[in-house]
Amino acid sequence: HKNRARSLGEVLARSARFGDRDYIVTADGRLSFAEHAAQVASLATAFRDEYGVRPGDRVAINAANSPGWILSFWATVAIGAVAVGYNAWWSRREVAYAIGHTEPVLIVADAKRAALVEDGVTVLTVEDDVPRLARRHPGAVLPVADVADDDPAVILYTSGTSGRPKGAVHSHRNLTSVIEYHRMNDALAAAFGDPVDPADRRYLLALPLFHIASLHNLAVPRLATGSAVVMHQGAFDVDRVLRLIEKERVTNWGAVPTMAHRLIEHGDLSKYDLSSLTAFALASAPSSPAFKERLRAAFPPAKDALVDSYGMTETSTAVSAATPADLAEAPGTLGRPILTVQVEIRDPLGEPLPEGEEGEICVRSPFNMLGYWNDPAATEQTIRADRWLHTGDIGVMEQGRLRLTTRRSDLILRGGENVYPAEIENVLVEHPAVLECAVIGVPHPDLGQEVMAVVVTNGEAPVGEEELRAYAAGELAYFKVPSRWRITTDRLPRNATGKVIRRDIETSVTGPST
Ligand code: ATP
Ligand code: MG
Repeated sequence: HKNRARSLGEVLARSARFGDRDYIVTADGRLSFAEHAAQVASLATAFRDEYGVRPGDRVAINAANSPGWILSFWATVAIGAVAVGYNAWWSRREVAYAIGHTEPVLIVADAKRAALVEDGVTVLTVEDDVPRLARRHPGAVLPVADVADDDPAVILYTSGTSGRPKGAVHSHRNLTSVIEYHRMNDALAAAFGDPVDPADRRYLLALPLFHIASLHNLAVPRLATGSAVVMHQGAFDVDRVLRLIEKERVTNWGAVPTMAHRLIEHGDLSKYDLSSLTAFALASAPSSPAFKERLRAAFPPAKDALVDSYGMTETSTAVSAATPADLAEAPGTLGRPILTVQVEIRDPLGEPLPEGEEGEICVRSPFNMLGYWNDPAATEQTIRADRWLHTGDIGVMEQGRLRLTTRRSDLILRGGENVYPAEIENVLVEHPAVLECAVIGVPHPDLGQEVMAVVVTNGEAPVGEEELRAYAAGELAYFKVPSRWRITTDRLPRNATGKVIRRDIETSVTGPST
């Protein structure tokens, strides 16, 4: 219908009507929708006329969270070019790989990341060039390119948890569909009595903008619904975040479990006024029912409003979400599929399985990526001919709710038994001396793999292998009890989305693989 924007450029063009309402708020400034639209018009004009960016060209953004990141994103997609979010944690080598992979005509980078870019690529800095170009063409009319629904708009890389990051390509239609989904959700919430008007919600943005949680599900839809994005900048800092929430009356927060962990560790949070916060969602990495209990006890806004949502870069937004009611009735599940998303559990031959049987989680939705950039083999493996996306996650449906049991690549094959690392990790973290842990499979001459636990203790009570082994044996079947242990106080290696990098642990245990 005629109200539905077809391209992100149209979404942007309409956003000026929100006038002087806040779009982007940081600890030291705010940008209204009108100012944002004017600055993007100028920046887009500069990209097109001064830097020769054409429709279909890639513009990479490699920067920590800042308003300039968002301005550069909108300027790029408005003129029909493809915005590529580089992971700001990448090393020089990884950046070089991504440049070779996406061949950007322009890279927008902050000073720290500009230094990682090899010679020969045009770099614009977030600190100087972006603000300068955003004011250079005052009164410019936003140049909106005529794009087709299925033209690529964005490339975001997967987290690289299981291998080399892959570039998921999302079309204009994918993103405008995500916007429609958020609109529908807002309307439903209002219809079911949510007292906060959707336009008055204020969303905390604390996860990196190169992640779908921040870009596709905050910065993009909030420009369409006229609500504010309150941005935390710099390293995650509990005190600074909570003070920002208090000062800016933030209503919604989506976090990764590592952040929730830090909230719990922070201790007494009663000195902050968090009464504005009515929704707190976890996403992106597993968190156990016991952990969620601890979070509810430590962090009052999570008490009645905790949500756990499951999604992946390839699906643009959530696949399913567990509401507080789901988590109470069926702890450990990830809820029901969200509106317009279909989920099936399939066997290795691609046949759908009935409820209660375990298989690969497969997803069909208007939000699924077009494919992986420049990687037809991986694309074909992931999106089959029938357009169902094969997630690589193993799960089971229980009364309409999804339970994720493991990533296929994490499953341990011990002799004839399947061993699920998360099941063992969830038991071990309940031991009072354990802060966090990772369970991995390591090579074994007869069994193929044996189970190894890397346990990080909290240093309060000394604990040895024997005690942990006896504890595990009391809780788990014999073949799940780790036969190898490493007990340490060094934190587990995690990536930008808070996931444990098992590859690094495996390498440190068994030496580099070839
Ligand atoms: P790569 O695909 O490069 O190995 P990645 O899968 O970690 O990296 P992302 O797209 O950021 O990259 O993460 C998606 C994955 O994260 C999902 O496939 C799933 O395994 C996991 N995940 C996401 N949300 C949740 C959640 N709420 N609970 C448990 N696991 C989750
Ligand atoms: Mg993945």
